[in-house]
Amino acid sequence: MELDRPLGHAIDEAARRVLPGGVNSATRQVGAPYAFTAADGAYVSDADGHRYLDYHAAFGAVLLGHNHPAVRQAVLTALDGVDLMGLGVTPIEVELAELACELIPSAEMMITTMSGSEATVQAVRLARAVTGRSLLVKFQGCYHGWGDALARNVISKPESAYGRDPLSAGLLDSAVDATLIAEFNDLDSVRALFESHPEQIAAVFLEPIPHNVGALVPTQEFVEGLRELTRQQGALLVFDEVITGFRHALGGYQQVCGVQPDLTAFGKAMANGFPTAGLAGPRELMERFAADVLLAGTFNGHPVAAHAAIATMRHLRDNPDFYLRTHRLGQRLRDGLGEITAELDVDATVSGFGGVFVLYFGTGPVSGYRDLMRNDHAAYAAFHRRMTGKGFLMLPMALKRNHVSGAHTDADIDLTLEAARDVLKEMR
Ligand code: PLP
Repeated sequence: MELDRPLGHAIDEAARRVLPGGVNSATRQVGAPYAFTAADGAYVSDADGHRYLDYHAAFGAVLLGHNHPAVRQAVLTALDGVDLMGLGVTPIEVELAELACELIPSAEMMITTMSGSEATVQAVRLARAVTGRSLLVKFQGCYHGWGDALARNVISKPESAYGRDPLSAGLLDSAVDATLIAEFNDLDSVRALFESHPEQIAAVFLEPIPHNVGALVPTQEFVEGLRELTRQQGALLVFDEVITGFRHALGGYQQVCGVQPDLTAFGKAMANGFPTAGLAGPRELMERFAADVLLAGTFNGHPVAAHAAIATMRHLRDNPDFYLRTHRLGQRLRDGLGEITAELDVDATVSGFGGVFVLYFGTGPVSGYRDLMRNDHAAYAAFHRRMTGKGFLMLPMALKRNHVSGAHTDADIDLTLEAARDVLKEMR
């Protein structure tokens, strides 16, 4: 189902003349010409006047809802102060780091970057500096940003899964090959890498819930086992909470599972859509940034984003119901989709956590990435495309996830489930 979008087409054509591929980031180009002009609460509108209930939420960066009054006010306040100094420190940067350290269980210090990719790049460098080792471990299916060291093996073609699958041309072979690939929820696969590369692995990077392939939920045994194994082996455990951070709990997934990583990367929802991210950890490790690990960035700690981040975190801290509500709405969607697919006899598996939900097709139960290799990617994308055609914005691409924000209501969930029933019937 395709919407009529003459203005969207015109803007897309103009964009393709001046932006490579017509967009500024890889997975924003999904075939149809999306050109958005307004966003408020749980709803967004495109240039042709179509209104959508937004489950894409800017890849999950918009957690409280678009144009949230507290964040908006904080940004306006920021504009009355220093725009950018690039010298010394502003009080707002200190306040942001203090608040993050208060809320995040494993944080004693935090550096502020502009993007999640920069935070993970810094984590790689710090891990190598403190351990004196060069290799890294990541899991097939996890994404940690565009930095050379980790840009491999996310959604791989079946023939390259677990093999050599760089995300980009232009990477040095040595950068790609210094990162080893393990299987999510499979501690033995990590143990085997430590055995075959003794005293060479600097860090294990983990998206605690790999949301870049929808939603795989870790077993408690797996996260606790990783903590113990990395400690025994003298490697750092890095949680990439760029998606899970602030979204699933105020203190991130580490608060949910009670396992403290050595380093944690945050981003996306941290400032409800404004560009900031962070890397947090214990003083003992983080002080290396003041000694011999390069930390630099003209826009790091930018006042506008810092004000937005503080307003977002304070809102979450002062409204503990936020999580009860978004998790309840997420559960309603997951339960509802489960009932509908069972009733219509669709071979689908519902997954998710908190306010995040996805529908896999043809996989059966999912635990690790290997299970997702059975997913019918075309059906997954078609479900999202058809839902979007009915006014429920879900990125039409496998294996993108859907997000409930603080602005979604029970009535929105009712409408979504009704539309999902129609779409799944049409797809039979
Ligand atoms: N880590 C995870 C888990 C992500 O999902 C992303 C982005 O999608 C990143 C890191 C990179 O963040 P950014 O796009 O802000 O550079």
